[in-house]
Amino acid sequence: MSDSSQPRPPQSTAPQPRSPQPRSLQPRPPQSTAPQSTAPQSTAPQSTAPQPRSPQSGAGQSAPTVVVIGGGYAGTSTAKALDQFADVVLVEPKDDFVHNVASLRALADPSWLPRIYLPYSGLLARGRVIQDRAVKVDAGRVTLGSGEELHADYIVLATGSGYPFPAKSDLDSTAAAHEKVRAAHEAVSRAARVLIAGAGPVGIELAGEIVAAWPGKQVTLLDAAGDILGEQFRPELKAELRRQLADIGVRVLLASPLRHQPPADPGELRTFTVATTAGAEITADIWFRCYGVVPSSDYLAGELAAARLADGFIEVNPYLQVTGQDRVFALGDVASADRKMAGIAARQAQLVAGNIRALIAGERAGLASYQRSEPSIIVPIGPEGGAGQRAGSEDLLPAEYVAQAKGRDMMVERFAELLGVSGRDGGTHE
Ligand SMILES: Cc1cc2nc3c(=O)[nH]c(=O)nc-3n(C[C@H](O)[C@H](O)[C@H](O)COP(=O)(O)OP(=O)(O)OC[C@H]3O[C@@H](n4cnc5c(N)ncnc54)[C@H](O)[C@@H]3O)c2cc1C
Repeated sequence: MSDSSQPRPPQSTAPQPRSPQPRSLQPRPPQSTAPQSTAPQSTAPQSTAPQPRSPQSGAGQSAPTVVVIGGGYAGTSTAKALDQFADVVLVEPKDDFVHNVASLRALADPSWLPRIYLPYSGLLARGRVIQDRAVKVDAGRVTLGSGEELHADYIVLATGSGYPFPAKSDLDSTAAAHEKVRAAHEAVSRAARVLIAGAGPVGIELAGEIVAAWPGKQVTLLDAAGDILGEQFRPELKAELRRQLADIGVRVLLASPLRHQPPADPGELRTFTVATTAGAEITADIWFRCYGVVPSSDYLAGELAAARLADGFIEVNPYLQVTGQDRVFALGDVASADRKMAGIAARQAQLVAGNIRALIAGERAGLASYQRSEPSIIVPIGPEGGAGQRAGSEDLLPAEYVAQAKGRDMMVERFAELLGVSGRDGGTHE
């Protein structure tokens, strides 16, 4: 049995549904329960970058080209923030932006799909989006899957990470991705017993979504670690989430690595029995893997290759420049700077955009440095449950807060706004 076949404790790099903090991508704190003093705090330093010249200004002066690679939370926010200051080219292989923070809700209720796959057409006013994959990136030059080469004054690496389905999708086609979610929804609806391997934030959220959508199902959530949620969060938060999981009938097995990988693919409807090393036997009709973040950084070439760490993340300096580089930045899940959260990616995007603007304006001294954020998180358990913690506060965030911040609307309006579409209308594909 290899280590990789076992549910592992959530890594420090695991995607973690948390209370996103920054500015435009931050969930609006519930009005009634979040007085200013307890609202999520941003520890982001304000960019001290001076106002840059408009790229249009100055006779004969052409705007610098910024190639942003990856159109997830980090890339879209960076591209949008730079759109009026540079010639922005966003490279992204997927048909649409995927708001994967809400992906587990879409498994439980596929009618959410059009609201979480949002077209890029309204994102940029000046810049353009190229639908392709970067296959090789060196300082100043990006080679696409098509063979086209893009020359860039600045490069932003925002290629994020992969994570097992249904939390994230590896399909570029929106139609195919929707079909896969619908098939998994159908499979879960026919399964009486569901096994979720990995009791980090994603596994907990998935258990909550399944029970909320199908109250009769028997859900087992297991982890190799001795507690849920990983190491960095408060024991009281874990206790509260365990209590809520027990209340809704989820069986939680801890310190229980599987002896063997289930003999079925994740998401496949097929009854099996597996044993844990602690001696428990679990029979389930379907299972999902909720661990295993894989940074997408295999395209780094030339002098950029040295910045790829042994675990695949890209090493950055405090200005979020790729180590050893002046004009190449990395942020979001793929970068080594902080924990892996959409909210953190959005905060980093503002900093990277400010730093690129400072460099464009020739104001090197105006570069702002990034500070890691304190652990904070919200974990929904279905649309109405869950709990959270936030930096600087001893109090747990109650279920009502979590429901208002994420559980009920899954923050879709916020991201629809960023993409320039109405969240209610959703994408154009259905
Ligand atoms: C189920 C779930 C719930 C979550 N909930 C929350 C939450 O509530 N709050 C929160 O803050 N965070 C949450 N997260 C974490 C959050 O989703 C991630 O931190 C976030 O996706 C990181 O954004 P990113 O832009 O760095 O990367 P990604 O979202 O992974 O986007 C990267 C993009 O780059 C593209 N790409 C990859 N390789 C290439 C290439 N070679 N060329 C071009 N493009 C490429 C990909 O197609 C993708 O569109 C959750 C995660 C999951 C899985």
